[in-house]
Amino acid sequence: MPRILIVEDDPQISKSLKLNLKLSGFDVQDASTVSEAWSALKNHHFDLVCLDIGLPDGNGLDLCEKIRTTGDDVPILFISALTEEKTVVKAISSGGDDYLRKPFGMDELKARIHKALRRFSIAPTVMNLGPLSVDSAKRVATFAGQLITLSRKELEILMILMKKSGDVVTRESILSLLYDESETFDRTIDSHMSHLRKKLREVAGVGIQIVSVYGLGYRLELNQKA
Ligand code: CA
Repeated sequence: MPRILIVEDDPQISKSLKLNLKLSGFDVQDASTVSEAWSALKNHHFDLVCLDIGLPDGNGLDLCEKIRTTGDDVPILFISALTEEKTVVKAISSGGDDYLRKPFGMDELKARIHKALRRFSIAPTVMNLGPLSVDSAKRVATFAGQLITLSRKELEILMILMKKSGDVVTRESILSLLYDESETFDRTIDSHMSHLRKKLREVAGVGIQIVSVYGLGYRLELNQKA
């Protein structure tokens, strides 16, 4: 049974989420402050976190960043009444996986939860391309045996490119595989891509490169002679 942590300070929303998700077969725990959420995360394993932004003792965005700095890549679904695009972009760049604007319907929430959980479970465990290897379960990549430490999003982008290696992958298709509201997150892909390139270059030099194809997208190229 997937275990979900709801971080929400509005008692009515929290109660309704808890009830609905329990009825849908999830194991649910709730927290109404940043500090309660933090201690729950330290003491238990969760498969997903629903995270409000405005909380009495702090901010969900900061909590998300803090969770990511510990290396925990639990899927985080923001639920917030804040609708400004810059808040949504910030939520995603702080390490969030998805963003749902309040008020939302329970069916939409469940659909997004299922999508986030599915994204985790259907990914192939090991992918190889020449000297490049990715283990999605362990969340590591290696090039000729050398470890490349990647964030989850970077790893996902790399795997999308590896599946299509040699072919151009459009920016739109990467976005649609990574996020639900692609138009909103258009800009965050650039920073993931540039970090990924830098990390690959540091370990693999020109042995493997992500080439930008102007107007089309990206292509992963393996240079066997390098
Ligand atoms: Ca709130």
